[in-house]
Amino acid sequence: MTIALQGIGIASSCPIALGPAFIDVRGRASVSQMAITPAQVDAEIARFDLAVASARHALQRVCAQIPRNMPIKIAEFIDAHLLMLEDAALLDDVRRIVTEHLCNAEWALQLQRDVLVRVFDQMDDPYLRTRRDDIEHVVQSIQSFLQTDTQEPAVDRQDLNGCVVVAYDLTPANAILLHQRGAVAFVTESGGPMSHTAILIRSLGIPAVMGIHGVTRYLHPDELLIVDGETGTVLARTDERTLHYFRQRRQALGDRQQRLRELVSRPTRTRDGVAISLLANLELPEDVHAARINGAVGVGLYRTEFLYMNRADFPNEEEHLATYTAMIAGLDGIPITIRTLDLGVDKGCEAFAHCGSTARNPALGLRAIRLCLKEPDLFQPQLRAILRASALGPVRLMLPLVTHAHELDTVLALIAQVKQQLDHDGLNYDAAVPVGAMIEVPAAALSARAIARRMDFLSIGTNDLIQYTLAIDRLDDAVNYLFDPTHPAILRLIRMVIEAGQALHVPVSMCGEMAGDPRFTRLLLGLGLREFSMQPGALLDIKEIILAADVQELQRRTAQLFAHLDETDPRYLLDALNRA
Ligand code: PEP
Ligand code: MG
Repeated sequence: MTIALQGIGIASSCPIALGPAFIDVRGRASVSQMAITPAQVDAEIARFDLAVASARHALQRVCAQIPRNMPIKIAEFIDAHLLMLEDAALLDDVRRIVTEHLCNAEWALQLQRDVLVRVFDQMDDPYLRTRRDDIEHVVQSIQSFLQTDTQEPAVDRQDLNGCVVVAYDLTPANAILLHQRGAVAFVTESGGPMSHTAILIRSLGIPAVMGIHGVTRYLHPDELLIVDGETGTVLARTDERTLHYFRQRRQALGDRQQRLRELVSRPTRTRDGVAISLLANLELPEDVHAARINGAVGVGLYRTEFLYMNRADFPNEEEHLATYTAMIAGLDGIPITIRTLDLGVDKGCEAFAHCGSTARNPALGLRAIRLCLKEPDLFQPQLRAILRASALGPVRLMLPLVTHAHELDTVLALIAQVKQQLDHDGLNYDAAVPVGAMIEVPAAALSARAIARRMDFLSIGTNDLIQYTLAIDRLDDAVNYLFDPTHPAILRLIRMVIEAGQALHVPVSMCGEMAGDPRFTRLLLGLGLREFSMQPGALLDIKEIILAADVQELQRRTAQLFAHLDETDPRYLLDALNRA
């Protein structure tokens, strides 16, 4: 009978894999206490030190094997583990426990692991809590060397070609090694989507399902598994029909990915020769890699909020600059649009707590540009860093949640002041760095001309524009059903902004989710949008639609759609527009 197990899916460019199970029992073997005599203490500590050294060598070997095109962060994960393997809090205490309790090193290590894990478990910050995984991984790795008493655990020597590795837990380093030995998917008992391992697996381009408790016991070695990273499902002992279905789906997805890959180097032009810019939205510096391999010609939105999270203070100018510098270097000459801080509502941070509003309705409160203008100490270091970064490569500066044109006058005056300071400090910047505004509030869309007069570019943030126009909280499940990009009011506001840009010769981009949603590509082309910015994984899907589109025809058909907007459900009109 088929077994279906549900966990947290990690879907990458290839979300489905089939293969025989390889059950990796490392980390599951129980550790028992054994008494030793005082005369055996030195030998036991030497055995422990050897296991630590072997774990360190194994990690260093992995570091040397990281493919050059992997995101830089991967090496950082491994460096973090290497540092832990030198950490006195871990090692000295294990040696002390062996000496004082006269017990085996495995048991001492287990006791010390429990102490450290308890500390992490008490932390409120969910991100820091996931760092507990790092302790587990390092301890596991030492345990496996202690238990085998060899320099290399057996699993690391095995050929895993085509196998699905089912493990209790997986370190980032092990994920790399197992992938290099041929593993095509991972299934784990622990771990979650925020873990380093999950980030790594996504960039390896293979699927995984994490967090299935007891999975290493439910599944048998060598039985055929189906791993669906999209739905988070693992199937075993399936019938032929199910297998056939998944094989076909995998084949179809693979063929499609392959076809899309071939589009990367093609210029993005419609059938009738209109050039379109496809840009990436980035949240973390390591996303640069995904932007490049999917052929983005620039970054249309870099959300800088992540620089402020998981820390108790604000990043200073040099920290901002270091991040921007690394990203500019990774982007290799393609432009980056750095959005100034958009903190508030869902995007909070610890350091912000003291100046954040206690408003009942934070989405309408002191967030984004409003907060920055109120707190110059928060804003100025970022402005200085963005301007300094503009000396290193093509940079655009973008302002979120603009409502009034006079906010822009204030920001522009502030930017002029910061430029003067930089001149005074003898620091370089691009004097002509383009400054743009996000159009995310109905008031801004309705005043798009006034805003465009002051700005070098506009970018439509449909996520917030829809929230504010339809008066529905983006985060509230109870009203999510009303979130409708096809609402006539939204379509009219988008058209209004694009037309304002055209009239004043100010480029208009779109960086909200609508830009990366294939249902709207033809409509947006018909409305005159020429710059789309989206999460990197959507770029090639959208490109495929653009290459097949005829802008002239879409302009005509979009005008017809608008003519019927009030009497026909816009979703039907959109379906008709999408039928080629
Ligand atoms: C938007 O609102 O559309 C947008 C891109 O900004 P964010 O999703 O970061 O609010
Ligand atoms: Mg927004």
